[in-house]
Amino acid sequence: MKYCSKCGNELIDEAIVCTNCGCGVNPHRTAKADIPEKDEADVGLIILSAIVPIIGFILWALKYKDTPNAARTYGTAALIVCGVWIVIYVFISVLVSSTVSGLIEGFM
Ligand SMILES: [Zn+2]
Repeated sequence: MKYCSKCGNELIDEAIVCTNCGCGVNPHRTAKADIPEKDEADVGLIILSAIVPIIGFILWALKYKDTPNAARTYGTAALIVCGVWIVIYVFISVLVSSTVSGLIEGFM
């Protein structure tokens, strides 16, 4: 089922003109609106991308053609998590090395 873009009247799928207001129904516009797949990121997949960044990158590559906005969200989530992990890793290694060198200095 589609609707008139001008008056909102309910139309049959084969309609070329609106039976209510008589305006032409744009076939290209309705055809594009009928695409079932929404270009919106799925929350579950965002979380999955954040937990396992490699899945986020795979989703990004797979969905880039059909749903670029959703794909970008998964890729961004994966990238942010990767960045956060690198920061945590650097922070821990700095913390550990300073603690170890502090211990060594304490013993010397
Ligand atoms: Zn109409």
